[in-house]
Amino acid sequence: MSELDLNLTRAAAYLKPFAEKGVLNRIGGKDSAGVASFQTTSPVDGGFLANVARGDAAEIDRAAKAAKAAFPAWRDMDARERKAILHRVADAIVARAEEIAFLECLDTGQALRFMGKAALRGAENFRYFADLAPSARDGQSLPSATLMNVTTRVPIGPVGVITPWNTPFMLSTWKIAPALAAGCTVVHKPAELSPITARLLVEIAEDAGLPPGVWNLVNGFGEDAGRALTEHPDIKAIAFVGESRTGSMIMKQGADTLKRVHFELGGKNPCIVFDDADLDRALDAAIFMIYSLNGERCTSSSRLLVQSSIHDDFVAKLAERVKKLKVGHPLDPETEIGPLIAPEHVAKVCSYFEIAQSDGAKVHVGGAKLDGPGCYVQPTLFTGATQDMRIANEEIFGPVLTVISFSDTDDAIAKANAVEYGLTAYVWTNDITRALQVTERLEAGMMWVNSENVRHLPTPFGGVKASGMGRDGGDWSFEFYMEQKHIGFATGRHEIPRLGV
Ligand code: NAD
Repeated sequence: MSELDLNLTRAAAYLKPFAEKGVLNRIGGKDSAGVASFQTTSPVDGGFLANVARGDAAEIDRAAKAAKAAFPAWRDMDARERKAILHRVADAIVARAEEIAFLECLDTGQALRFMGKAALRGAENFRYFADLAPSARDGQSLPSATLMNVTTRVPIGPVGVITPWNTPFMLSTWKIAPALAAGCTVVHKPAELSPITARLLVEIAEDAGLPPGVWNLVNGFGEDAGRALTEHPDIKAIAFVGESRTGSMIMKQGADTLKRVHFELGGKNPCIVFDDADLDRALDAAIFMIYSLNGERCTSSSRLLVQSSIHDDFVAKLAERVKKLKVGHPLDPETEIGPLIAPEHVAKVCSYFEIAQSDGAKVHVGGAKLDGPGCYVQPTLFTGATQDMRIANEEIFGPVLTVISFSDTDDAIAKANAVEYGLTAYVWTNDITRALQVTERLEAGMMWVNSENVRHLPTPFGGVKASGMGRDGGDWSFEFYMEQKHIGFATGRHEIPRLGV
């Protein structure tokens, strides 16, 4: 039996309970089938995976009320106890890492070589924020002449978390772990296209001792369940990861209830390669940052800006590697690129093959859907592109790279910044002065010099321009999920202005 066959057998066993019972909502510690259901299907062949409970506004209302009811006890729990519970959640994620990874591959089409690590990164997120829980309320002492001023932080209340389909498990842990550590309760609305591991996650958390109602899960579509969550008066904040235009809709929907929002949105991130860089490492990183995770990755380097003096050599080597990328079943350990999430997304990605050519770029490698029932697309490389083309400005969100040539530092910066997005940027140069000047002028929330994206949890994660608002990571996560309070204690009997005497 091949390793893929073994994995398929194990994956089928992990899927069985979901295929039989469905992917149910979880509200106040109880299952709910919702008002109707929809199906989640396999990107590999379009086959049935599971029925999913479809939540509506009434289901969201019940979940928000459950989160509200659970809030005081969770907020007031000794933070050391919260820390212990969240560490137990991390332990349970590790114990079930294979199950999580396999189900994630089946539901999203992401390759196992990346998803195995995603489960462990999810556990890391819980451990990191668990350790910060006991100090989350800490404040400052800011004495003045007449007052001992102190600050403290309190959790904002029940919060809504809305996540996208690309790496649902990792992203759910990333948003929910800090909310729980801060003392908030949660209503989570996962993406309708890949809901399975979010359900697994809430089960894991409750099995690990998370009290009922602290974490509620409502599946459903953006326009009904998602919208109702953003409009609910008991939900104090919305942490959202998804497309920029959805972020804009959420901001409008949340206006009447003055929702606090945190947005992690799209990107069209540049990887800038100067001629003095370590070109072998730059090549590895450029390929990794667009073709890993099927290119369905907000931080992907989907624009490669190459200095004209090295352009032709660099592109020749790049093209050879792109041709050799292994496209295959997500559960095959050899696979580098799996099927995209859904047929509609394949149609969107493939539409750019035509757009590229009509705008005057060259389809250097790939440029077609692969035959067969699944959502497989050839890894694609566009060359000869200019920054005014659509393929250089729009987020394609697939294994598709656009190469653009630049002349000097000013040209590189102008091109890098000439998009509406500003999430990440990758700079390759061995000239430290140039690196400092370029990173100073780039419009991006996160930049790496001579490196691919390597996440370090204490650092701020987020974008500028249309790529987002607010930051995650370290204390930034708590700034979002908590409210500052100031208390001034009079140190003596200072003179109080007397009116109406
Ligand atoms: P999407 O915006 O279509 O959907 C994301 C979530 O929002 C889903 O759960 C969806 O049901 C919900 N939603 C849709 N309309 C809504 C509405 N009106 N009100 C409330 N909720 C609504 O995004 P997607 O297609 O699932 O994900 C891909 C996008 O996510 C890409 O643009 C990608 O760059 C972005 N993304 C960003 C980051 C980041 O950290 N910046 C990370 C991952 C993905």
